[in-house]
Amino acid sequence: MQDLMMSVSGIRGVFGKGITPDITMKIAAQFGLFQKERYHETTDVEKITIAVGRDSRTTGEALAHSVISGLLSVGIDVIWLGIVATPTLLLSVKELKAQGGICITASHNPAEWNAMKFIDANGMFLFPEVMAEFLNRISIDNIEKVFHNINWQNIGQKREDYEATWRHIQKILEIPYLDVNSIRTAKYKVVIDSVNGAGGVISPTLLKELGCQVIEINSEPTGIFAHNPEPLAKNLTQICKVVKENKADIGFATDPDVDRLVIIDEKGNCIGEEYSLLLATKLVLRHKKGDIVTNLSSSMASDNIAKEFGVNVIRTPIGEINVSVAMLNNNCPIGGEGNGGIICPEVNYTRDAVSGMALLLGFMTERKMKISDLASEIPKYYFAKEKIDINPDEMDNILIKAQNLFKDAKLDTTDGLKFVFDKKWVHIRKSGTEPIIRIFAEAQTIEEAEQLCKKVKSLL
Ligand code: MG
Repeated sequence: MQDLMMSVSGIRGVFGKGITPDITMKIAAQFGLFQKERYHETTDVEKITIAVGRDSRTTGEALAHSVISGLLSVGIDVIWLGIVATPTLLLSVKELKAQGGICITASHNPAEWNAMKFIDANGMFLFPEVMAEFLNRISIDNIEKVFHNINWQNIGQKREDYEATWRHIQKILEIPYLDVNSIRTAKYKVVIDSVNGAGGVISPTLLKELGCQVIEINSEPTGIFAHNPEPLAKNLTQICKVVKENKADIGFATDPDVDRLVIIDEKGNCIGEEYSLLLATKLVLRHKKGDIVTNLSSSMASDNIAKEFGVNVIRTPIGEINVSVAMLNNNCPIGGEGNGGIICPEVNYTRDAVSGMALLLGFMTERKMKISDLASEIPKYYFAKEKIDINPDEMDNILIKAQNLFKDAKLDTTDGLKFVFDKKWVHIRKSGTEPIIRIFAEAQTIEEAEQLCKKVKSLL
């Protein structure tokens, strides 16, 4: 059980070691009962319904059966969506008026991992305080206390719905400021690398709907990932080559559950995951003015863009849900994370690589420019990363010690410590999943960013 990692972002582990059909069945049953307690008085339907979907992992089918079994056996109805992108499932929970959802995906983790993520009736992941309450409920001591005391007349009913992907695509095509006809006329040649994740179904379909000539690589949703599934430049050499060889206009790479998007320019260069959100932001702000949201470790190029459009940047702690909640509360037109996570609220308040593709093609069409030229308009900054292995008990002491590191910087203590200078910053925080402290820095040169990281590391 200690190999099962529970955090506000979900429950994950290596299949067979941390995460097993046995434990996921119990956790799913608990989630069903938890949502029933929260919604039984406010819903006019007789039963609570939970939507379930998965990414393409080879262990997904086994876990899907156990999750569905857990839910049905405590009297919860289930809508099974099959292999879908995570943003598709989130949107479907809201559209189907279900009281929640369970997503079986380990996102960008290697193939041996799997995980459960929990979705609320509003089509967003459980808010942090609700997730904390749920985690408390399924603590090791409590998890065995599931009683399957539903009788045969009240057992849950399962139905299947394989239209979710298509509804998601329609919703993207209806984004009010997206000029779908002009994109279709441009007839872009696009390479898509879905790494044999869930994106193999939705991404090429959307691109074809947008009139693109699509070259698909790794489009089979087999869960046998064609390369390391985290969409980072070092893992994307194959698509870079294919874009160049085919003289494509753009390449898109997604992670297995399709919430992170990385762009390859027409020259075959991976332009870095930070640019996905920055470029999408520039399109959206041309049509809808409003403050933008991103996390504390995402690029300060957001500040440049915000200034250009006369809006503000709201910075949140790391974690998609923190960004989503801030966007909802501030009615923001666009936001997301620098790791390729674009949140377009016209579709839903969640990271969505598929919506991101449409926005980026829309931006190329509107500006009548190549993607490399659009990227070169954004100020170039450089990141550096370091980590310190640390005993978890010493973590808070270290962070207290770190408070006085830089007297000449502005200190932000929202999530760890972020020291902000003019045109550079360094962010020090505890990892949510490992006994380490992470150090991130961004500056106008790579040397400067590395120096900041090294300085922090040597002083701690
Ligand atoms: Mg993901």
